[in-house]
Amino acid sequence: MKLYNTLTRKKDEFKTQDGTNTVRMYSCGPTVYNYAHIGNLRTYIFMDLLRRALKYDGYELKGVMNITDVGHLMSDGDDGEDKMAKASREQKKDPWQIAEMYTNVFMQDFDKLNIEKPEIICKATAHINEMIDYVVGLCEKGFGYETEDGIYYDISKFKGYGMLSGNTLDDLKAGARIEVNSDKRNPYDFAIWKKAPKEHIMQWPSPWGQGYPGWHIECSAMSRKYLGDIFDIHTGGVDHIPIHHENEIAQSEGLTGKNPAKYWLHGEFMLVDGGKMSKSLGNTYTIEQLEKMGYSPMVFRYFCLNAHYRKKLNFTFDTMDAAKTSYERLCGLLLKHKNSQDKADVEKLNAFKQEFKEDVLDDLNIPSALGVLWTMLKEPYSVDIYNLAIEFDKVFGLGLDKIKEETTSDIPGEIIAKAEEMQNARKEKNWAVADALRAEISDLGYIVKNTKDGYEITKK
Ligand code: AMP
Ligand code: ZN
Repeated sequence: MKLYNTLTRKKDEFKTQDGTNTVRMYSCGPTVYNYAHIGNLRTYIFMDLLRRALKYDGYELKGVMNITDVGHLMSDGDDGEDKMAKASREQKKDPWQIAEMYTNVFMQDFDKLNIEKPEIICKATAHINEMIDYVVGLCEKGFGYETEDGIYYDISKFKGYGMLSGNTLDDLKAGARIEVNSDKRNPYDFAIWKKAPKEHIMQWPSPWGQGYPGWHIECSAMSRKYLGDIFDIHTGGVDHIPIHHENEIAQSEGLTGKNPAKYWLHGEFMLVDGGKMSKSLGNTYTIEQLEKMGYSPMVFRYFCLNAHYRKKLNFTFDTMDAAKTSYERLCGLLLKHKNSQDKADVEKLNAFKQEFKEDVLDDLNIPSALGVLWTMLKEPYSVDIYNLAIEFDKVFGLGLDKIKEETTSDIPGEIIAKAEEMQNARKEKNWAVADALRAEISDLGYIVKNTKDGYEITKK
């Protein structure tokens, strides 16, 4: 299996560190101060696809995902209020209630989207001692130092800082803001522990008085506890590359002298209408909101599967409508195969299987693997094809084995497939191809009518 490693900037052949069959993988989890939006969930669908692809390749998984329920400030650095404290103030609930409520909804979203839960899910607030030990260790090794308001990591001590993002210390110096906190040795040093003012809502005793952990130390301490000093894969969204993951590497190198993960994988962002998702624009949709608008979570998952995880994915309601139509057609075709008694050509099946596997093992080329599924479903109906599709679904996770019997449409698969191609051609404004396909479909005795949600096929 080849995986694109942000650290080496190329596709690397995947091998476990210890040569065993178990992949140790850490995924940065959610900060549970609000509902997860569809962008966040795209990143966890990516994590899930990776887990499923590894399993398809014969590995077992030991996956760890954290729940950040303290210490993530409004910026990814050291500025602003703790997100949990802010939510607690605004929603007039204590932070423990806030964390519990949003963690529950997040886990429900996982179920709805058929995202397998990592083997270990760990809350930051349940690992404060491990974090304190980590900070003590960094201080003992000369990487951590105390200031009036916290314990900071001295970036100038770690020459490799910036290896993931390509940022140099000079870039950081140039970009550093004038700091209020003049106690820091370097303006770009980051907090690993914060001292808590009396009124601060979440705080724990520590060798430096009452305080709370920095966000970055949480992941370093928990990944080390559950996966050891070096594990196989670390995942997160691309926004984690320049700060959060760079800081995690710095912390691990400081304490253990090692980069914690061999493969660093990052999921690209989801955009909405070509731009950033933000609360002020009112475009941070949740799964529940999509459901209310008539899009099932599986349609959203299918929508995500159509873009490679390293490509930006633009969410619009037009593309969601197209995904919905396409997903429904796919389910319809699949049921035709399910209900057939016919056998399929074994050589053809093997060729599909081979092509599918090559796509999946090539840095998770899921869009291409979906293409294989579509081509396969256009074959004459056969229960063997159904069975192979269900095997592919171990990776796609679309719950294809659970789709309900469809009673309507008697349209042959060949026609549906041509109509799909026509639809794609129309989307690309390839009118000549679309017209040619419409004519072919007509010659075969069917009419395709464009509708608001896509198209409709009727017999002449
Ligand atoms: P947070 O709960 O803010 O810590 O984010 C949870 C995960 O969602 C992180 O891995 C982020 O990198 C990821 N993320 C945030 N915004 C987006 C987005 N627009 N598209 C994809 N992933 C995102
Ligand atoms: Zn993290």
